[in-house]
Order: sequence, then structure tokens, then C-alpha cells
Amino acid sequence: MSSRCAVVRGIGEMREARERARRAGRTVSFVPTMGALHEGHLSLVDVARRHADEVVLSIYVNPAQFGAGEDLDEYPRDLERDLELAAARGVDVVFTPSDAEIYPEPQTTWVEPPEEMARRLCGLSRPTHFRGVLTVVLKLFEIVQPDVAVFGRKDYQQAVLIRRMARELQLPVRIETAPIVRESDGVAMSSRNEYLTAEDRPAARALSGALMVVRAAFRAGERSGRVLGEKARSVMQEAGVRVEYAEIVDADDLSPALEAGPSGICVIAGHVGSTRLIDNAPLAGSCSLDDSEE
Ligand code: AMP
Repeated sequence: MSSRCAVVRGIGEMREARERARRAGRTVSFVPTMGALHEGHLSLVDVARRHADEVVLSIYVNPAQFGAGEDLDEYPRDLERDLELAAARGVDVVFTPSDAEIYPEPQTTWVEPPEEMARRLCGLSRPTHFRGVLTVVLKLFEIVQPDVAVFGRKDYQQAVLIRRMARELQLPVRIETAPIVRESDGVAMSSRNEYLTAEDRPAARALSGALMVVRAAFRAGERSGRVLGEKARSVMQEAGVRVEYAEIVDADDLSPALEAGPSGICVIAGHVGSTRLIDNAPLAGSCSLDDSEE
């Protein structure tokens, strides 16, 4: 493998790289990640490449988005492997700053997401998560100054909140989203899947299984958001998942859909053993689950 990518650790150096691209008339797209790269992340690189001349990928495990007692210290990290994967996929610059670089002093200024969108679903169990995400994403945008930034629909609530932030703060960046990439058994790829044991696997599969059941019920005519949510919940519970939430929500503002329409999204979260997993799928239209649907 002959490809290499530049590895940048400092904010100043990243800004210089961006300035060089600008002077050369080259557009930049950006893929923020926390590393432990897998095919889900790399699919975002492919999308990013289609939208700009250069791709910057950041690897930064952002402490501000982890709550007390969450897996910040155990979060998987393997920079050497990540750099190889990024280079092989054609990333031009990997930006991998230190905590001291991103948080040189205690953070007291935050990007606070709208409460009605951020304090539900994942925000119920992780009340400060999304302000941590939005704050670091704004910092990264300001450092990398991308023309386009690409986020996975795997983290659906996050993608909606980032889009909202970019719009309301009038950031000069276009937000693109990319479909969920799944393992061959339907489990949505996640760095946290590394925590799953062989015994956990059937329960982990129940998340995508629940989404398929909900999509089938919608196709068969069920329109009650409550009933569809309950169907997802029971599939997961029967497989031993400790369900955190299972809801049908509006695709744009995440509000609960009492009457489910074709633009509704089923969003689910639960614990399998000690691992917290999330997944989602549109009620109608094609999605990456279709590969596993009969
Ligand atoms: P993370 O490293 O978990 O913060 O994820 C970085 C980006 O990759 C986010 O935009 C995620 O939504 C996206 N991502 C993670 N897993 C997947 C997946 N299985 N399919 C598509 N995008 C993903």
C-alpha cells in the first residue's frame, strides 16, 4: 500500500494546511470521528471525497460528550491502525489534536442545543452529551473550516442537531449525511461493538431486527406511533436487550409521531450486557436494512 496522509496535531498547523488548500483553490470536506475506524466511518470518507477536492478526517475522543461513569477511559483507541485505514481510503489530512489543544482551559462557554430536541431520546440518559458534541464540532469546524462536513445517520439525533446548529448559527459549511453501514448480520457498525461478547451478539442483532419488524408493520398499514414503538420495544426485550427507548419521531425535529407517516423514523437504544447500542431506520423507503430483509 503506497498511500500516505498528512498527520496534523496542532490547531495552527491544521489552519495552515487549510489555508494552503484555499490558496490552491481546493475545496475541503470534513469527517469528524472519535477513531477506532470501521467501514461506517470510511463510508463517510467516500461521501466526503465526492463533495470536495480534499478530505480532512479528525480523530478526537471528546471528553466533553462523555458523562460521569461512561466509557471515556475504555473507549477503543488505535491510532496507527486508524492512520493506515484512513490513508488507504484516500484521506488527505488526519487531524488528531490532544485534549490540551482542544480544551486549553476549563470550558465554560457551550453550544447549548434546543432542549426539546436534545433532552429526549439519547439526551434523557446523557443530559450533557449533545452540548459536548455541538461544542466540539463547532470548534473543529472553526479550525478545519470545511466547505462540507459529513455525518452518519447512525447517530440520527446528533446529525439533526448538528444540521440545526449549522443553520441557526449560519455556519459557512454544508452538512451532508450518509446511510448506516451494517455488519453482515445487520448490527449497525460502531466502535463500541468491540465491547460485545459472542453471547451478546443475538441481543445486539435484535436492534436491527426490531427495526425490520417496525418497517414491515408500517408497510402492512400500522400507523400508530405508539404501537410501532411498542413493537420495537418487545422485539428487543424478548432478546434480552435492556431497552432505553423505542420511538417513532419526526425526521426533522425529532418530535414524537403519534400518527406515523412515511417520513417518520424509528429510533431505538438499549443496553446489551454493559454495551449501549443505538440504531434507527426510516419507516418507508429503502435503507441499509433492506439488504437483510427478505
Ligand atoms: P464516532 O467515531 O462514533 O463519533 O462516529 C463518527 C461519525 O461516523 C459520525 O458521524 C457517526 O454517525 C458516523 N458513523 C459511525 N458509525 C456509523 C455507521 N455504522 N454507519 C454510518 N456512519 C457511522
